[in-house]
Amino acid sequence: MIIVFKSDATEEQVQAVVGRITELGMSPHLSKGVARTLLGAIGDEKILTAHPVDAMPGVERVIPVLKPYKLASREFKKEDTTIDLGNGVIVGGQRFEIMAGPCAVESREQTLEIAEILHGFGVRILRGGAFKPRSSPYSFQGLGERGLKILAEARERTGMKVITEVMDADDAPMIAEHADILQIGARNMQNFSLLARLGKLQRPVMLKRGMSSTIQELLLAAEYILKEGNPHVMLCERGIKTFEPATRNTFDISAVPILKHESHLPVIADPSHATGIAYVIPPVALASMAAGADGIMVEVHNHPEKALCDGHQAVLPAPFAEMLVKLRVLAPSVGRTI
Ligand code: PEP
Ligand code: MN
Repeated sequence: MIIVFKSDATEEQVQAVVGRITELGMSPHLSKGVARTLLGAIGDEKILTAHPVDAMPGVERVIPVLKPYKLASREFKKEDTTIDLGNGVIVGGQRFEIMAGPCAVESREQTLEIAEILHGFGVRILRGGAFKPRSSPYSFQGLGERGLKILAEARERTGMKVITEVMDADDAPMIAEHADILQIGARNMQNFSLLARLGKLQRPVMLKRGMSSTIQELLLAAEYILKEGNPHVMLCERGIKTFEPATRNTFDISAVPILKHESHLPVIADPSHATGIAYVIPPVALASMAAGADGIMVEVHNHPEKALCDGHQAVLPAPFAEMLVKLRVLAPSVGRTI
């Protein structure tokens, strides 16, 4: 249920309704918009038939949410969610944000070198996995905490924000100390205990779509994080498994406008894991911007032939810079800055 308050409702009236919702065993989620305050009441909606809160002072109306996801829905929040990472880096605003970096943090030297190059290009968010979800247990698994410290050093040196993956809920608080955005990978999209743990932290989360998950399942997974009280969630389309073997996955471009329509959460596109082919990444990145994505995540490596993970799909710095030029040309025609 969404409880819409009158525009002149007082804070006491709002708090009285929050108290009543809690008393009835539902969980209250306040959203203070520019014009209106809304309260999402999550729980058994039938209770409200016997205990009508629309009779309480300050309440204008009560609207049932028909979608299975509530807090993630546009019904709950009309305005786009923006996630402020500090120093003017805001995901979900007018500026198209670029996250770039190697698939994995391989060494201090490699990470700092790539970070310096990307920083020089104006990239503001550095990606790099310290804990890697590899298909084979014999492949490089990441440097773990040492990798996080390298990322933190790159952040210190360049001022870039850092995004890195969390695979294990127990590692989440430690990773949150080193990273600005916690990534949940495709393989963990429905790891509900991990989602709930990140929901209890206040660090922004980027939730990647599972490779065989529907758009609705992605939004329901986001709901697990939001429900625990962390509103800073962004969604990521990273391709889905189809019968087409020409690309690593199939980039579901229509997921971008559908997610923007159904949800207020920022949407990031990952053309690297979606396509798995370096030359296909720049055109798909441009298409993502045109489709309404709020940003992209791209794997970049200066020595892809030596990369310990996903070297075949890494974009070299030069074509990456060319892609940025094209994105800058496209941006104003789709109402973006970059
Ligand atoms: C990644 O971004 O490092 C990654 C492993 O991607 P995905 O979870 O989308 O496969
Ligand atoms: Mn990768």
